[in-house]
Amino acid sequence: MTSLPERAEVVVVGAGLAGLSAATRLAAAGCDVHLLEAGGHAGGRLATERIDGFVVDRGFQVLNTGYPRVADLDLGALQLGWFWPGAVLRTDDGRAHRLVDPRRRPGAALGTLRAPVGSLVEKAAIGAFAARAAYVPVPRLLRARETTAEQALLRARVGGAALERFFRPFLAGVLLERELATSSRYLDLLWRSFARGGFGLPACGMQTVGEQLAARVGGGRVHLGVRVSAVAGDRVDSDAGSVRADAVVVAADPATAAQLLPGVAASAPRQVTTHLHVLPRSPWPAPLIVLGRPEGHVVNSAVVTDAQPRYSPDGRALVASSTMAPTREADVRDEVARLHGVAAADLEHLTSVTVPGAQPAALPPLRLRQPVDLGGGLFVCGDHRDTPSIQGAMASGARAARAVLRSLRPRSPAGGPADPPAAGATSSTGAA
Ligand SMILES: Cc1cc2nc3c(=O)[nH]c(=O)nc-3n(C[C@H](O)[C@H](O)[C@H](O)COP(=O)(O)OP(=O)(O)OC[C@H]3O[C@@H](n4cnc5c(N)ncnc54)[C@H](O)[C@@H]3O)c2cc1C
Repeated sequence: MTSLPERAEVVVVGAGLAGLSAATRLAAAGCDVHLLEAGGHAGGRLATERIDGFVVDRGFQVLNTGYPRVADLDLGALQLGWFWPGAVLRTDDGRAHRLVDPRRRPGAALGTLRAPVGSLVEKAAIGAFAARAAYVPVPRLLRARETTAEQALLRARVGGAALERFFRPFLAGVLLERELATSSRYLDLLWRSFARGGFGLPACGMQTVGEQLAARVGGGRVHLGVRVSAVAGDRVDSDAGSVRADAVVVAADPATAAQLLPGVAASAPRQVTTHLHVLPRSPWPAPLIVLGRPEGHVVNSAVVTDAQPRYSPDGRALVASSTMAPTREADVRDEVARLHGVAAADLEHLTSVTVPGAQPAALPPLRLRQPVDLGGGLFVCGDHRDTPSIQGAMASGARAARAVLRSLRPRSPAGGPADPPAAGATSSTGAA
């Protein structure tokens, strides 16, 4: 652990993507900024470990390159491996069907057209829903009447088999809830980013996204293993000592932010359990996420090494299967085997992880772009200030950095203009 300075111009509490996004901008603007992080790595909820040579992310998650703030990353250096834009669903007769975005994989269009998710009219409704999210300007999307994600899909005539076999399990794996009670506005923004980007996994795991940003903040300024116990606008107390600062940015997870900052409320946390198995080889010809069945525990299961072969040390396949409620490996083994069409005995259990605070809920009314400047030199950012996503975390960090610069260096152009109101501002970023 590097020793803390007695004073710094800015202290950022928490080195998740929000804190790192704020700190990289402040460092680039010439600020003397220090990051205090309780955990042992930079990247927060993007965490990776090596188990028996396999690259294992702490819960299955992907980097969606349709997120506007991904522009801040050096994607080339991450050496992303890609999932195809779509999913596989299994029907009662055990057959596997592909549902793939035909714009980007025209070769898979015929299979998609034949997938058992309703009549041609119902399939046209799926296409119309996707096209609206992809091409309607963000301010118009955000002006649409807000409801739940489920109600919005039904309103778009996406119901029946399309909802139960495709949208519900697909979205449950992203929103971490099966009821689809999430805001329809967030669904629109999310689907927009899906339609515009790809799903990638970095060669050395999701944690490298955060580590890439941490390297830009500079050596000696990211203090790992330092837990902050109290903050004020001019002082931060931690288990490694106190630091005086002109500005303090709290970029901790929602629950800790609410503890450290009176007046900041944490929305309900969503949790996920991910089971990791090893197979001798992948049973699939293409890198696609396999959707869980309505009666099962598993919402999705993916051979992650199909997308990113570097997650495996030796060519064996690594399978990540997620459930919303906490499950034991024995609860899901047969189901995972059926989804992939393999024998349960072929699945070698590697590890399982439950992440209790994986994401904050985004129920209606969606509150985009919540204030980041709390006054008196105190600032806040994190996915709970924007949307519960990598995009939301990074966008809120960027906003917090601009607010800090406006407060510390009012005449500097680096501060930029004050944040415009929510709808207008997101139109420039297409934020999700
Ligand atoms: C399993 C899983 C799957 C996900 N899937 C996706 C996905 O596919 N797409 C997507 O966009 N998003 C996904 N997310 C959500 C996304 O990872 C988060 O929204 C985002 O990483 C949050 O970043 P953050 O910086 O706001 O918070 P965090 O990453 O939580 O960072 C906060 C940091 O503050 C530190 N901290 C807390 N308390 C203190 C303290 N007292 N002192 C010092 N430091 C402290 C923490 O250790 C942490 O490093 C997923 C999350 C998980 C866990």
